[in-house]
Amino acid sequence: MKKKTILVTGGGGFIGSHLCERLLHDGNDVLCVDNFYTGSKNNIRHLLTHPDFELIRHDITLPLFVEVDAIYNLACPASPVHYQNNPIHTTKTCVSGSINMLGIAKRLNIPILQASTSEIYGNPLEHPQPEHYWGNVNCIGPRSCYDEGKRCAETLFFDYHRQTGVAIKVVRIFNTYGPRMLPYDGRVVSNFITQALADKDITIYGDGSQTRSFCFISDLVEGLVRMMNSPRTVTGPINLGNPGEFTMLKLAEMIIEMTNSNSELVFKPLPQDDPAQRKPDISLADKILEWNPKVRLREGLLKTIDYFASILP
Ligand code: NAD
Ligand code: UDP
Repeated sequence: MKKKTILVTGGGGFIGSHLCERLLHDGNDVLCVDNFYTGSKNNIRHLLTHPDFELIRHDITLPLFVEVDAIYNLACPASPVHYQNNPIHTTKTCVSGSINMLGIAKRLNIPILQASTSEIYGNPLEHPQPEHYWGNVNCIGPRSCYDEGKRCAETLFFDYHRQTGVAIKVVRIFNTYGPRMLPYDGRVVSNFITQALADKDITIYGDGSQTRSFCFISDLVEGLVRMMNSPRTVTGPINLGNPGEFTMLKLAEMIIEMTNSNSELVFKPLPQDDPAQRKPDISLADKILEWNPKVRLREGLLKTIDYFASILP
């Protein structure tokens, strides 16, 4: 089989770096494109000497000319703190970035996977969330740059598919965690673990009754690869996530116990438009991709705690 060259935008980020590793392991050439807005060379330093790995520092909101066989479009800040830091650029990355990447896919007639998100369901009124649920999203709030940016990206993907025949693969990723998350990116898993390891107060936003469903990175990467390798007719959207649902209070309790921490819980205001509940319906992924997450929360948290313990002072 001919070796494929695969473009991973956002390849220097948390999910992207794990995906690059997996694609190299499968025998592909990998072209990683990243502007290092939230990613880091440290995530991919061990790949820089790999003969099949190339890195281009580039912002996908600007045109890019490369010759590749497939594209995973992951470039976009994912933590609320980061994507709200420069909201205009977040929307540009989702919209202009997608147009640029879809342009490459169209010119080369190659498949392109879009890392969409459970955020497109907003504060969902249907629970768990199946792909046919249209969502409940505020278009003018602080999260809108990301939520609406990702929604518009999905629109672009489907219009390119209908209008020009591009082979699209849209996955909606639910909260994913694991080694190489940034310790201070503001996301709940990284916040709670760094706080617990330092015996600092654990910051619960709101009353902690809101829920999330956490997917370990290795499970997610397997789902991404299966989606890319699925038949051309499989466009998605397909949810990828772990249906195990936890309140933030329960997550805090687990992390305190697993780190033997003396941390105490402190309650902070709930950020605006923070979704009250989130849990993927993954029956489509199960049926079409034969994909099911394997790593239970406790097992994934152990690996993530070990990682943070190894990098924090
Ligand atoms: P991350 O912030 O670690 O990675 C994003 C990467 O994209 C970073 O390396 C960043 O530098 C790069 N980037 C951002 N804007 C760019 C631009 N304009 N041009 C080039 N590179 C750019 O986040 P992540 O958790 O690895 O998320 C990766 C993708 O998965 C994102 O598209 C995100 O929306 C999506 N996603 C993630 C989650 C999750 O829980 N981690 C959930 C849903 C969707
Ligand atoms: N959260 C929290 N304490 C923190 C960080 C986050 O209670 O220190 C809550 C946040 O309000 C949200 C959930 O944890 O309800 C998940 O937040 P995160 O930023 O990880 O991702 P989201 O799913 O909201 O994009």
